[in-house]
Amino acid sequence: MAQKNQTNYAFFNGQIVPIEEAKVSVMTHSFNYGTGVFGGLRGYWNADEEQLFIFRPHDHFKRFIQSAALIRIELRYTPEELTHILTELLRTEGWRENVYIRPLAYKATELIGVKLHDLDDAVTIFSLPFGKYVENEEGAHVCFSAWRRVDDNAIPARGKIIGAYANSALIKTDAVLSGYDEAIVLNEDGHISEMSAANIFIIRDGVAITPPVTSNVLEGIVRRSLMQLLTDELHVPVVEREIDRTELYLADEVFMCGTGVQLAAITRVEHRAIGNGKLGSTTRQLRELFFQIVSGRVPKYRGWLTPVYVAEVVQ
Ligand code: PMP
Repeated sequence: MAQKNQTNYAFFNGQIVPIEEAKVSVMTHSFNYGTGVFGGLRGYWNADEEQLFIFRPHDHFKRFIQSAALIRIELRYTPEELTHILTELLRTEGWRENVYIRPLAYKATELIGVKLHDLDDAVTIFSLPFGKYVENEEGAHVCFSAWRRVDDNAIPARGKIIGAYANSALIKTDAVLSGYDEAIVLNEDGHISEMSAANIFIIRDGVAITPPVTSNVLEGIVRRSLMQLLTDELHVPVVEREIDRTELYLADEVFMCGTGVQLAAITRVEHRAIGNGKLGSTTRQLRELFFQIVSGRVPKYRGWLTPVYVAEVVQ
């Protein structure tokens, strides 16, 4: 099969259609007010097995449905049904490379009026070839953002709400245009929350520490996976608690994680080196394990993956 790198299809209005047909009006409520939610998944291509593995689709779709519920979007699909639709879509595309998958659920009514009730909901999914999200995965240079993370009492950060990503976009662009790879974001109370679109861990004295789900973080699926791998495979204890800014300066290692970012080491914060300023050994081991797992090379964790292609049955 020839290599291709363009999106040809989307799931739209209940069926898989050519991408040109997956269009919405400028009057769409969600386009005007950010009243939608999204997800972000990855599919990893394993050339040895000629297989595309979707990473934890059930967990992603469960969070997608919960994000939607926060803004009164009632999805008529279960995580199993969405996973099924997604595998159909990816098979139709015929991808043979790593891909990124974007489901969206949104207020679709063409109407002026800021509200969430009495509006129609819609769901769409598309996918595209995708590589790295941060260039410097083994040694990112980050800053502390002057912006604060959206608060649960303003726009819930635990939901992937489209409108809330104006916050992430401000954070990311100010960091990148100031010469950094990414930015660490504080909550209004001054504790560390997360990055613009990734969760954060610090390693200090052999313990991995990450902000709790009550620190205005997205309840990351990679975050949860790494907590399990740190504990069960690397035997590094994990603690969820608030993190002060200066603890990060004293950390031995810091890394960020998420579907886009995957697992990237942070080795410099503004003018300060983290640890010895190089990729640390725990981060390196965890990265190696993570990439082995997502590409289907660790039998114990095959349960995290859903294969897209099914072997043809010879009659
Ligand atoms: N925080 C934010 C704000 C994000 O957008 C993301 C990416 N979805 C993450 C954290 C990481 O979450 P996950 O591991 O589920 O991709």
